[in-house]
Amino acid sequence: MKYYIKTFGCQMNERDSEKIESILQENGYEISNVKDADIVIVNSCAVREKSERKIFSEIGRIKNLNKKAKFISMGCVAQIYPEELSKISDVVLGTTSLYEFKQLFNDGIKGTFISNTIQNPDYVFGHLKNIRAYVDITYGCNNFCTYCVVPYTRLREVSRSYKSILEEIKEIVEFGGKEVILLGQNVNSYNYEGLNFIGLLEMINKIEKLKRIRFITSHPKDFGEDLAIAISEFEKACEHLHLPLQSGSDRILRLMRRRYNFKEFAKKIEYFRKYNPKGSVTSDIIVGFPQETKDDFKKTIFALKEIQFDEIYSFKYSNRPFAKASLMPNQVSEEEKNERLLMVQEIQSKISKQINNRYFGNIEEVLLDSKAKLANQMQGRTRTNKIVNIDNVDFTLKEGDIVFAKIKKINKHSLNGEICTN
Ligand code: SF4
Repeated sequence: MKYYIKTFGCQMNERDSEKIESILQENGYEISNVKDADIVIVNSCAVREKSERKIFSEIGRIKNLNKKAKFISMGCVAQIYPEELSKISDVVLGTTSLYEFKQLFNDGIKGTFISNTIQNPDYVFGHLKNIRAYVDITYGCNNFCTYCVVPYTRLREVSRSYKSILEEIKEIVEFGGKEVILLGQNVNSYNYEGLNFIGLLEMINKIEKLKRIRFITSHPKDFGEDLAIAISEFEKACEHLHLPLQSGSDRILRLMRRRYNFKEFAKKIEYFRKYNPKGSVTSDIIVGFPQETKDDFKKTIFALKEIQFDEIYSFKYSNRPFAKASLMPNQVSEEEKNERLLMVQEIQSKISKQINNRYFGNIEEVLLDSKAKLANQMQGRTRTNKIVNIDNVDFTLKEGDIVFAKIKKINKHSLNGEICTN
């Protein structure tokens, strides 16, 4: 029996797909191309209006390629449009109900599974035996930023029990995993029976054979000096912080309901760099939020130059279902958004290049996690999350090994290095 899965969207969706794949593989299914599959799954994303429309057309396209397969719709679009999707799918699986997928092999592959609470958050799903593995620590979000659909598609925040998290990580390590990426919309607000995020990090840091810990995403309002110190003290916690700024304008941040201003944000970065001077910082930026004037936008440009992020993920604002910002007046034109996005990307690209240039000649610890493009290359990441292609690798090296590499070349989005033997 075979399956095919197509995933849209963020790391949460990637991890959800992996959970479903692990259940399929436990039931004897193997991955295949779409035409040979007995089960076809589309895991959807609702983060932009465009991605939603794309899902419906993608479903039509995929169904035409294989009319015999059982068809499963899952993900954020399934959670908010179950009725529409149930007309064209054998199974509709909401983000809250992944656990139900296990039952389908006993009860027949059909039905709609949507809930308004997160079902069985402590269930330990399997993994696909990756060197770097995502582990959910919280589900959902309580923040209701005005541009975001997540509190509607993934519901209110629930922290998983530390026991189930530790059990899952121990299993990952048992199967050769070396790095975990703790996942949540707002990981720093983790709270399980009084255990906070730093307490959880401390427990995970003690897991034998685990080499590295990362986490995404942090909300600036919940990131403090104590966590900056913890990252520097727990040897497995990598010196990389992803902290979404979104806008440099305090007025726009208020309209976005982000609950910090630029000065407060900059202070958080200062804490991180004070205790982790060699650390890297990445961020998210939205351009063209409703009512964003040229002056507001200039403040975002100022913020980029001031903070000097290693890398940013930049997006044009887009209306999303249920999000309050969709109803705000004075929406910015598409043309203006395109111009602003281009400007942000050009400026950031120069900053990223300058920061990466500082790596030239450094000796970096690299965790090898995959083959690179060339036959004698392997790829891995530094503790600061920079991708490194290691040239002229010895055939004895394998994924999961940690090596030291001297950085010899700086590329646009990666570095090249050679194994350092002394
Ligand atoms: S913190 Fe804001 S942007 Fe992030 S998931 Fe929650 S509502 Fe969305």
